[in-house]
Amino acid sequence: ISLSQQRPPLMEVKGNLELKTPLVKASSRLPLPGSRLKRGPDQMEDALEPAKKRTRGLGAVTKVNITRPRGPPLRTAPQTHGQTAAQKVPKKTGPRSTARPLTFVFSVPMLPSAAPPMVAGKKPGKRPAWDLKGQLYDLNEELKRYREKNQALDRDNQQLQEQLKEAQQQAKTLGTECSTLEEELTRVRTQAEQGQQELGHLRAHVSEIEEQLSTKEELLQELQKEQLELQEERRALATRLEEQERRQQALEAALSSSQAEVVCLRQETASQATLLAERGDQLHGLEMERRRLHNQLQELKGNIRVFCRVRPVLAGEPVPSSGFLLFPPGPAGPSDPPTCLSLSRSDDRRATLSGAPAPPTRHDFSFDRVFPPGSRQDEVFEEISMLVQSALDGYPVCIFAYGQTGSGKTFTMEGGPGEDPQLEGLIPRALRHLFSVAQEMNGQGWTYSFVASYVEIYNETVRDLLATGTRKGQGGECEIRRAGPGSEELTVTNARYVPVSCEKEVEALLHLARQNRAVARTAQNERSSRSHSVFQLQISGEHAARGLQCGAPLNLVDLAGSERLDPGLALGPGERDRLRETQAINSSLSTLGLVIMALSNKESHVPYRNSKLTYLLQNSLGGSAKMLMFVNISPLEENVSESLNSLRFASKVNQCVIGTARANKK
Ligand code: ADP
Ligand code: MG
Repeated sequence: ISLSQQRPPLMEVKGNLELKTPLVKASSRLPLPGSRLKRGPDQMEDALEPAKKRTRGLGAVTKVNITRPRGPPLRTAPQTHGQTAAQKVPKKTGPRSTARPLTFVFSVPMLPSAAPPMVAGKKPGKRPAWDLKGQLYDLNEELKRYREKNQALDRDNQQLQEQLKEAQQQAKTLGTECSTLEEELTRVRTQAEQGQQELGHLRAHVSEIEEQLSTKEELLQELQKEQLELQEERRALATRLEEQERRQQALEAALSSSQAEVVCLRQETASQATLLAERGDQLHGLEMERRRLHNQLQELKGNIRVFCRVRPVLAGEPVPSSGFLLFPPGPAGPSDPPTCLSLSRSDDRRATLSGAPAPPTRHDFSFDRVFPPGSRQDEVFEEISMLVQSALDGYPVCIFAYGQTGSGKTFTMEGGPGEDPQLEGLIPRALRHLFSVAQEMNGQGWTYSFVASYVEIYNETVRDLLATGTRKGQGGECEIRRAGPGSEELTVTNARYVPVSCEKEVEALLHLARQNRAVARTAQNERSSRSHSVFQLQISGEHAARGLQCGAPLNLVDLAGSERLDPGLALGPGERDRLRETQAINSSLSTLGLVIMALSNKESHVPYRNSKLTYLLQNSLGGSAKMLMFVNISPLEENVSESLNSLRFASKVNQCVIGTARANKK
C-alpha cells in the first residue's frame, strides 16, 4: 500500500456548512439547492462531520496492491489517521485473496485555490456580514465545489463500490478457491499421510529389499568367486585340452607311421610266410634226409651191436689178480674208446708136462664197444642215444642186458640203488631223451605219444610188473596175444599199458615195478634174477600237416641170469626145480641166440615161438629193427667161467648182421 498525503487534510473542509448530507449517500446525486440552503452552518458541520470522519486520512490517492497468496504478504504502512477505509480493504483482501492484483484508487480532489480562503472553523471568510450576495456567491461557489466534490466522491464511491464488488467477487472467488485449496490441502494431507504410510511401507520394503540386496550381493560375490574358480578351471581345462590335442596329433602321426609300418610288415610277413613255407618244406626234406642218413649210419654201425660192460669190484669182494682182465686200447690209440677185452684164465686141470701149473690162457674179445669198470652211466647212455633217435624215426629198437646174476644188468638198465641221478640207468635216460627229442620235433609238426608196459617172464610165464591193487605180486595170468585178427601187433593180456608223457610218470612206473618184484622175491627166492624183465614203450608219431605217421616199439630188456648149473653137482629135491628153472632160462636165452642167428642167416623160419621172450619181441627183432646187446661181466676171477660163456655168446651175436634196415612207415 502506498498512501499519498500530498493533499491537505480534509479537516479543512470540516467547517464547510454546505456539506450536510453524508457523503456516502450523496455519492450519485447532487443535493437539491433549496433544501441545502435551509440548513444552518451547524447542520452543515453536522452534515460534514461524517464525511470529515470518513475522509480523514484519505487525503491522497491510496493505492492498494493486493497480490495473490503466493505473493509477498501485505505490509502495513505506517498508521495514519483516516486510514480506516484503506486499512479495511487490505484486511479483507489478505494473503488468501486471488492471484489477480487489485488496485484501489482514492482520489480526493483538492479544493479550488480560486475560492476565498477558508478559515478553519464555523465562521465564513472575510466577507462582511452584510455581503449576503457575496456570501451567497461564496456559498454557491462552495456548493458548486462541493457538488463537484460530491460528484467526484460519488464517482469514487461508485468506483470503490465496483472495486468492492469486484473485491468481494474476488474474495468470493478466493474463498471458493480457498475452500477448494483447503479441500485440496486436506486431500493433500490425506495423501501425505497415505504417502507417509506408504513411505513407511516402502521403507520397510526398502529395508527388506536392501536385506535381499545384501543377500543377493553376498550370493553375487559367491557366484563371482565361483565364476573365477570356474574360469580358472576352464583355463586349466583348456590347457589340458590343448595338451591332449597336441598329444593326439602326435599319436595320430605315430599311428599313421605305424600303419605304414604295419603295411610294410604285412608285406614282409607275407613274404616271410612264403619263405617259411619253403623253409618248412626244405626242413622236412632235410629231416627225411637226416632220418635216412641216420639209419644208414646205424646200419653201417650194424643193426646188431654188442657192447661189453665190466662192473667194478664191489666192497668186500676179492680183488682179482692184475692182468685177469685187460682192456687194450683201440686202433687209434689210448684216446680211442676201447673195443677189445682180454681175459686170462689159468686152468688148474691142465698141467704142463713138468707138473708146473699151465700158463693162463688169454681170451681176446672184440665188440662194438667195451666199457671198463670205471665207466659212468652217462657214458654208456651216450652210445645208445642214437638208437633212441632211431626209435623216434620209426625203427623198432631192442636193447638187451645179458650176463650172469650179479654182473650189473639191472644196474645198467634201471640204475643203481638210491635216488642218485648219476646212477640212473638206460631206461630213465632213454625215456627222458625221447621226451625232449619229441618236444623238439613238435616244432617241425610232429606229435608224439608214448605208451609204456613192463612185464616179467619167469619160467615161461608172463607177469605184469605194473599191476596194482589186488593183482600186485601175482603172476601167471598174462598171455601174449595178437592185438586183433590179422594184426601183426602183439599185446600182453591183463597187462597195463600206461600212457606216459614225462619223466615223473616213468619214474613212478619203475618204482611200481620194483615194488612188485620185491613182493615176488619174498614169495620165491631170487626170482627176479631168474626172470626176464621187458620194458616196452610204444612210440607213435604223427605229422598231421603232411599226413605222415610213424611208430615203433622201444624194448629195454633185463635178461635173466645166464649162469648154468654145475653139471657135476648132485641134485637134491629143491635143486630139481632150480634145474627146470635154469633149463627154461637157458632155453629162452639160447632161443634168443638162435633167433638172432636165423635172422642173420636170413633163414626162412625164425623160431620166435620157441620162447615167450622171443615171441613177445617178435616185431622188434629182424627187418629194419635195431638191436643192441650189453654183455655184463663180473670182474671177479671166480666168475671167469660164466664170464667166458657170456663173452662167447655175445661174440656169436656180434658176428650176426641183420638185413637191410627199413623204417616201419605206415
Ligand atoms: P644183475 O642184475 O646182473 O644181477 P646187479 O645190477 O644187481 O646185477 O648188480 C649187482 C651188484 O653190483 C649191485 O649191488 C650193483 O649195485 C653193483 N653194480 C653193478 N654194476 C655196477 C657198476 N657199473 N658200478 C657200480 N656198482 C655196480
Ligand atoms: Mg638183475
